[in-house]
Amino acid sequence: MKRNLWCEYAWLGGAVPEESVVIGIEDGRFTSVSPGVAPDEAERRPGLSLPGFANGHSHAFHRALRGRTHADRGDFWSWREQMYRLAARLDPTAYFRLARATFSEMVMAGYTTVGEFHYLHHGPAGRPYADPNEMGHTLMAAARDAGIRITLLDTCYLHGGFDTQLDVVQRRFGDGTVAGWFDRMSQIQADEGARVGAAVHSVRACTEDEIATVASYVTDMPLHAHVSEQLQENEDCLARYAATPTAVFARSGALERQFTAVHATHLTAGDRRLLRGSTVCVCPTTERDLADGVGDSRALLDEGVSLSLGSDSNAVIDGFEEARGLELHERLNTRERGRLTVHEQLSALTDHTTLGWDDAGEIRPGRRADLVTVDFDSVRLAGTSPDGMLAAVVFAGSAADVTTVTVDGVDRVTEGRYGAGDVAREFTELVPRLFA
Ligand SMILES: [Zn+2]
Repeated sequence: MKRNLWCEYAWLGGAVPEESVVIGIEDGRFTSVSPGVAPDEAERRPGLSLPGFANGHSHAFHRALRGRTHADRGDFWSWREQMYRLAARLDPTAYFRLARATFSEMVMAGYTTVGEFHYLHHGPAGRPYADPNEMGHTLMAAARDAGIRITLLDTCYLHGGFDTQLDVVQRRFGDGTVAGWFDRMSQIQADEGARVGAAVHSVRACTEDEIATVASYVTDMPLHAHVSEQLQENEDCLARYAATPTAVFARSGALERQFTAVHATHLTAGDRRLLRGSTVCVCPTTERDLADGVGDSRALLDEGVSLSLGSDSNAVIDGFEEARGLELHERLNTRERGRLTVHEQLSALTDHTTLGWDDAGEIRPGRRADLVTVDFDSVRLAGTSPDGMLAAVVFAGSAADVTTVTVDGVDRVTEGRYGAGDVAREFTELVPRLFA
């Protein structure tokens, strides 16, 4: 299908947005992008249009914990106990509904691809479902219904901690051996809007030898891992291997793959050098929610590491909030402003390469036709000059300002209305039951 859109403003990768941009779309791809052209008969998109956002790291089911984990003092580990109690309750039917609603919330916020870091593979006590990939296929079906592309990052999770067996909940995550994991995940059926990637949960969940085996198997897909989210993990890893988590991934050959280190909050200068050429997926809203600490995004960029962004625990689903978190956390740490440019923040937000979609994340001919349009008449953004639009949307915009979202040439959100169901009502009906 052919379409012609006129965007009042569109960010084409420069320092400021271009004005009056006419964009041709055919078969889900951009065919032409022409700034400074009169709209004529084209469909009109007032406001600022951006490329689609990539959610580099998500655990969809954590969305149900929203507002339910803030009553007591605690830390990452006490939060994890609450998360495990929820994980224990999920069956494929509930997981489908929860993931579909969560992915829908992402589409409404402007995300056009999600990287779902998936480890809840099996039934109670670790018994496989009739289809051993029932849960992975459920997530892919949920993404399809929600209208978002997915990279299913199927996760190898073999141990409960360093030299510790999986506990009763974690047994649902495990496949016994790396070969068992790879046999199962090799049978996942992808489709047009879905891809399969691989993940190692962390140095806690796989030994160095096991990570090396994973890296030897996955030569043609993204490979993600949680790295140094917690100081405790660093300390335990140093005690076990006399090496940092990053160094263990380096020695295992993982960094020679299409590697993304998720969080990478507590790194040494040596770790940052090792990660040159890899991607770090920062998850600012989750890292602040879980009291993880603040990474060093500026130092990573200076070292030649790419940055992407993820909503991770989905405590908040708002790409602008993630993008400004990158810079604002740096400001609190360094007492200096302007550590990252707005361009660097938006590049991280739209980086689809981390998820294996090299042909998305830019408004240019040949790329996937993803567009996120933001309303500049909203009370938050009104009064902004064209020169300040990018900074305004990054530092003051919200997911609620997203009016239109196009994924692969198809409008999923139009004038603020999402076309695939009442998402708020679905959460209202479903989530309390998961805690009943
Ligand atoms: Zn995670």
